[in-house]
Amino acid sequence: MNRVGKLYFKYGTMGSAKTAMLLTQAYNFEERGMKYLCMKPIIDDRENDNVIRSRIGIERKCSWIYPDSDLYAMLKQMFENSQNVKDWILIDECQFLSTLQIDQLARIVDDYGVNVVCYGLRTDFQSHAFEGSKRLFELADTIEEIKSTCSCGRKTIINARIDSTGNIVTDGDQVEIGGDDKYVSLCRRCWRNRSIESTQRGAIKFEDE
Ligand SMILES: [Zn+2]
Repeated sequence: MNRVGKLYFKYGTMGSAKTAMLLTQAYNFEERGMKYLCMKPIIDDRENDNVIRSRIGIERKCSWIYPDSDLYAMLKQMFENSQNVKDWILIDECQFLSTLQIDQLARIVDDYGVNVVCYGLRTDFQSHAFEGSKRLFELADTIEEIKSTCSCGRKTIINARIDSTGNIVTDGDQVEIGGDDKYVSLCRRCWRNRSIESTQRGAIKFEDE
């Protein structure tokens, strides 16, 4: 096979319209008669309709990726069935993929000349790289930042987790299932200031008790 594909990583903070961009890309492929497949890691067992959905109201069917899915084997089988060749693979929430799964995607790109576009977050609520994202920074052919703006005007960097009163949460599991209301995208400076304020509020509360 002579096709040359690329592994893309398009990252941004929460609320940077990554999913909307993925769905717009899918729509453009349909308009141009190009074959594509949408995929997404399953992180919430309660989700059972396999669709990628954005807040602006568009959605597309997707294939689930499980924590133990062998993406190379899955996609190889698809490419070797000549009825089912895709030009593009679009993956949402790729930060939740494992190092091994990103390696499998890179191999699929190299062996089958397909383009794989991964959309996801760079870091978790404690500002550390997610496993899948770290590996994408190491391996991707093309890396693109999807920028969005903090309320102060600077670029958002941090996906801060907040509690019901808006205080910044600094401890907890890396993945916490829940709505977007548990997170706020902030620039690094606002994140630091709000973390200090949250700590001080916590200390005052503690003295009152
Ligand atoms: Zn800010």
